[in-house]
Amino acid sequence: MKFTSTRDTSLELSGPEAIVQGLSREGGLFVPTEFPELVLDDFLGLDYEALAAKIVGLYLPEFSADEVAGFVQAAYSDALPVALHHLTDGESVLELFHGHTSAFKDVALQLLPYLMTASLKAGGESRKAVILAATSGDTGSAVMSGFSGVPQTEVITFFPDSGISEIQRLQMTTQTAANVHAVAIKGNFDDAQRAVKEIFQDAAFVIKFDTKSFFTSANSINFGRLLPQIVYYFWTYSELVKSDKIQKGDKVNYTVPTGNFGNILAGYYAKKMGLPVGHLICATNKNSVLFDFFETGVYDRAREFYVTNSPSMDILVSSNFERFVYHMGGSRLVKETQAALANDGRYTVPEAVFTQMKETFSSYTLDDAATTALIDDVFDNFNYILDPHTAVAYGACEYYKAESQDSTYNVVLATASPYKFPATVEAATGKALDDAQIPENLKDLTKRTVTQTQVIEKSAIRATIEEILSHD
Ligand SMILES: *Cc1c(COP(=O)(O)O)cnc(C)c1O
Repeated sequence: MKFTSTRDTSLELSGPEAIVQGLSREGGLFVPTEFPELVLDDFLGLDYEALAAKIVGLYLPEFSADEVAGFVQAAYSDALPVALHHLTDGESVLELFHGHTSAFKDVALQLLPYLMTASLKAGGESRKAVILAATSGDTGSAVMSGFSGVPQTEVITFFPDSGISEIQRLQMTTQTAANVHAVAIKGNFDDAQRAVKEIFQDAAFVIKFDTKSFFTSANSINFGRLLPQIVYYFWTYSELVKSDKIQKGDKVNYTVPTGNFGNILAGYYAKKMGLPVGHLICATNKNSVLFDFFETGVYDRAREFYVTNSPSMDILVSSNFERFVYHMGGSRLVKETQAALANDGRYTVPEAVFTQMKETFSSYTLDDAATTALIDDVFDNFNYILDPHTAVAYGACEYYKAESQDSTYNVVLATASPYKFPATVEAATGKALDDAQIPENLKDLTKRTVTQTQVIEKSAIRATIEEILSHD
């Protein structure tokens, strides 16, 4: 299994190399050069861990089957983040928020530290991996939790000082392991993500630490983040067959609340691997860059940025969209579009590419008011509580069903626990959340000591990294 870069296809790496490096040096993202196929009988009936081991093993044949099974077991045995909730005859909610920090990022970040550690060892890398992460809220705590105390790693995560929820902030700022750091920046997620990506390409800066450390990423720009996410698309399908919701071979649509386009891209990878995926529905909030793209074929990030009630989707530059453009139009189109994005803040793709994209993808957008109205509706009708991100997806799925008349079975991906966003949820339903059901990791958060208090200007990111690494 080989990987290459979206911006330089002369590169060839193994999976472990791609995971250790995170981002390609010229700024491209690592992608597999082929997609292994699974036929239905390869995976129907497998339990989650067995399926995860199978899929991870296909992309990382450098590790033995026993090793991979061990990583998966260590990652998920105490908290499998995934459960399926049947809402109606034709629709289920895939709950991805039962992991260590109550957001779907845990699915990948409970496993990635094991993949990273084994990949460092496989490559004979003895320096420390300094993981730089930009977060719109949920990545930061999941990365810090995942890598907490992991030898040979250090995490520095940057989060927007305003815009994330109080719980999201506390989940980061109360972490205590010596190797994990959270720093607030005066800027939004895109500022943080851009700054971090620039550092990877800043040779003069990187070389200062070169003898002892190197920088890598645990954002969804790292292929190691996407890989564990492919699994739950297959697992859901298998569960739907098992419970007779669908027949073997039927298609299933998945609606995904989207920010950086990582989660939905994993669904596209599952389709490329042979899963009978019908439509992938990309749900966006008022920061509707992707919705507008699927309407017009123009990606335009030069626009106002909104702080919404689904903050983990407050993103204008969806990094993983570059991978999608690569799979649809090749490296040359990636280079053209990325140059246009850098110069003009916008790009278009050729008509033929756009048409091909729309064969699988649809997109809908919801503003804050529509989001809270749906939380209330679903609570009234099904006695089921959606978090705001999941509500955006639920609404997008409703729009899709109404517009398409498609009778394919629908799965809505639930990316966060409603207990992560109690203010929004309680205001929407007019009812207090049941304290007895608070996930363990969110309990007593306000009583914990805040240990991470740094707030910096965007321009101080490099100096802050230097300062943190000088303590070694
Ligand atoms: C990160 C996140 C998203 C967006 O996922 P992408 O993979 O970035 O598209 C959606 N909802 C929640 C709760 C998240 O944490």
